[in-house]
Amino acid sequence: MSTVNLLQFDKAALVDWLAQAGHKAFRARQVMHWVHQRGVADFEAMTELARPLRAWLLEHACVRALPVLAEQRSRDGTVKWLFDVGAGNAVESVFIPEASRNTLCVSSQAGCAMACSFCSTGAQGFNRNLETSEILAQLWWAEFTQRLALGLGDGERAISNVVMMGMGEPLQNYGALVPALRVMLDDDAYGLSRRRVTVSTSGVVPMIDRLARDCPVALAVSLHAPDDALRDRLVPLNRKYPLAELLAACERYLAFAPRDFITFEYCMLDGVNDSPEHARELLALMRGRFAWKCNLIPFNPFPGSGLRRSPAQRVAAFAATLAEAGVVATVRKTRGDDIDAACGQLAGEVLDRTSRRGNRVVAIAASGAASAAIPGRTA
Ligand code: SAH
Ligand code: SF4
Repeated sequence: MSTVNLLQFDKAALVDWLAQAGHKAFRARQVMHWVHQRGVADFEAMTELARPLRAWLLEHACVRALPVLAEQRSRDGTVKWLFDVGAGNAVESVFIPEASRNTLCVSSQAGCAMACSFCSTGAQGFNRNLETSEILAQLWWAEFTQRLALGLGDGERAISNVVMMGMGEPLQNYGALVPALRVMLDDDAYGLSRRRVTVSTSGVVPMIDRLARDCPVALAVSLHAPDDALRDRLVPLNRKYPLAELLAACERYLAFAPRDFITFEYCMLDGVNDSPEHARELLALMRGRFAWKCNLIPFNPFPGSGLRRSPAQRVAAFAATLAEAGVVATVRKTRGDDIDAACGQLAGEVLDRTSRRGNRVVAIAASGAASAAIPGRTA
């Protein structure tokens, strides 16, 4: 008989599932403590659970992590994992330690259907949505391996922040995303505050509104252009949800958001969107709307993109133009670049199922080292 992976459940779902077999609601909290706070996968070791419940779990449940195909450590302490999600697909997660916080960048899909022109995940096409258990398995694995690696005791947390900025468009996998977010926030599990969990989206407008109602965590919006013509080219989803609609959704979200501003991500592409004129257009676009911050991400190149990173001076000038107008603009530091762990370089391995590319393994050139570790799978 197949067993249920407990990483699939948020608390409400676990309570329901246990109730079907007559187990009381408080047992769900105990099980969550063992699994998500102590990293225990072995039911025999969950000593405070009543013996009959342990026996029942042994028969019906499991706590199943994802197989690790490769782990790479950067000189700067960044760790990247390549996880096998079956049928020739793999996804990546990145642990980014800093002085004041440790952030985990989590994937939501195997590949991505949004096809942004500057993103290597987008270049691979799309295979499938990850399940809640596969999203949470990334966090579970990273939290408990890094707790050990950092010499932290029980009760101390390795990961202080989660960003849904790995592979995939999280708001295109809404049904699996929300229970995963709830477990991240749950005091009986990871207990992260809403401002320490960020969903990054290329702008799926109706789902921004649903997230506001269902689980309003911090929102980051991938803008990348100050006008529709340019954004249509860089982020094809803009043709469906143009800037006016996207910005209106951001404004609605603010009423629910854990912070009083929206973060816009802006990937700096040499000669494409990085001139002082673009910065002024962006200010004009946003004038009189709502509080925002801008996170400038120097483009991380990958083979075949045909795009170049903006020179540091141009990035600094862009940031200065925004700053002079009173907008907080930060330039994202590149982390883990010796292991291709930077934004937009996460390639994993994806068997593209969309008609755009047909049914074949798409090259994963950007993650050469990681993909080379999968025997017989390098394209
Ligand atoms: N799909 C979501 C989240 C994943 S991408 C989104 O698009 O927001 C996380 C961030 O990395 C996004 O802002 C994305 O635009 C940016 N990004 C993608 N490719 C990049 C690249 N090659 N260089 C720098 N940033 C990139
Ligand atoms: Fe998908 Fe985000 Fe990459 Fe665009 S930038 S292709 S939405 S992962």
